Amino acid sequence: TYVVNDACIKCKYTDCVEVCPVDCFYEGENMLVIHPDECIDCGVCEPECPAEAIKPDSEPGVEKWLEVNAEYAGKW
Ligand code: SF4
Repeated sequence: TYVVNDACIKCKYTDCVEVCPVDCFYEGENMLVIHPDECIDCGVCEPECPAEAIKPDSEPGVEKWLEVNAEYAGKW
């Protein structure tokens, strides 16, 4: 899955939402998030983000944001 991190806070461009083929972006408290079970790993959103807030979960340091994304997206 791809994961949105804190670089998104107060950015909220929605370019990423528009390109996502499966509509797996959700509105968090102060940032957008990606539902980890719905993301199909296509990667098209990553270059669309002007804040570079979207990273694949294989990147170091992304783990804690994965939890935030899952929570805000309503996984739990
Ligand atoms: Fe949507 Fe693809 Fe980005 Fe996952 S990687 S959030 S499926 S655009």
